[in-house]
Amino acid sequence: MVRFTVLASGSKGNATVVSGGRSRILVDAGLSCRELFRRMKLVGEEPETLDAIVITHEHSDHVAGLAVTARRLGIPVYFTEGTHRAWMRWLTPRRQMTYAQWMEQCRKQAAERQAETETAECDAVCEQEEGEEGLEPAAEELAATSEPEAADDPDRVPSRKEEPTWLPSVEYFQAGKPFEIGDIAISPFTIPHDAADPVGFVFHAAGVRMALATDLGYIPPNVKAQLKGVDLLLLESNHDLEMLRDGPYPWSVKQRVLSRVGHLSNEAAADFLENGYDGQAAYVILAHLSESNNLPELARVTAERALKGYACLLANRLLLAQQNEPLASIYF
Ligand SMILES: [Zn+2]
Ligand SMILES: [Zn+2]
Repeated sequence: MVRFTVLASGSKGNATVVSGGRSRILVDAGLSCRELFRRMKLVGEEPETLDAIVITHEHSDHVAGLAVTARRLGIPVYFTEGTHRAWMRWLTPRRQMTYAQWMEQCRKQAAERQAETETAECDAVCEQEEGEEGLEPAAEELAATSEPEAADDPDRVPSRKEEPTWLPSVEYFQAGKPFEIGDIAISPFTIPHDAADPVGFVFHAAGVRMALATDLGYIPPNVKAQLKGVDLLLLESNHDLEMLRDGPYPWSVKQRVLSRVGHLSNEAAADFLENGYDGQAAYVILAHLSESNNLPELARVTAERALKGYACLLANRLLLAQQNEPLASIYF
């Protein structure tokens, strides 16, 4: 059975669960661990059955709950090397690291992981991390707690306990190079976005192909090619151009969103659906809708108009992913 569940989508947090055969992966962890688990249980997914977490890029709306969730479940995290490095920098912004120091830190963390055989110790760390104030200490706090000693000796690599970037296991993938996690084949592809090495994915399980493409300034030819022949298409429909132009964001932020490495507008998504898309998907999910510069109905109507040519009872069912609650699971 193949199952696709969007737990959350938008600038306040993104997460999706993809299940195929005996495998189950979490794509992005942009909510707190607690909220991720709550939403998974709401839709009938057991967090403990997740096999891995796969990350699109290091922006906080995609990684906010990453470390705690991965540690809690003791599962590997798949990144590109560039995204992993950017994520580590984001969590420890005041620690300047040369590339050699960073490699050394990765090596030490890997060695520690290898030595990590006591599950009892792991459980203790998880409980400690949950704390009383919730599961997600702010990045600044994390940085502050690891800073004072690190400042004494810049070459010192922090131990696991004080290291906010510690993960149970890290695996690297590269855009353009497909890999597998259990029964799910994954094709990562480069997307144009202002992050270190951002990607979208096509997941392939039991003959079903599911594409996920959000956080992209426009749809270049390599992305168009990836979105062909999919059974499920999750596509960004971030903002209405007019609402963004007239909206509350400062001009610099508007420019960023509108840029070639920003976010996809309703109009750009519709242009793709009308002119670049092959009409093959059973489900089209509009995602990463802005709460300030979009309205669900505007996004829906714009996409519906574009999909008119493919009108068919069985195909192109149009759904909207939401920020505040999971979208009902899609089964194949
Ligand atoms: Zn995002
Ligand atoms: Zn982003």
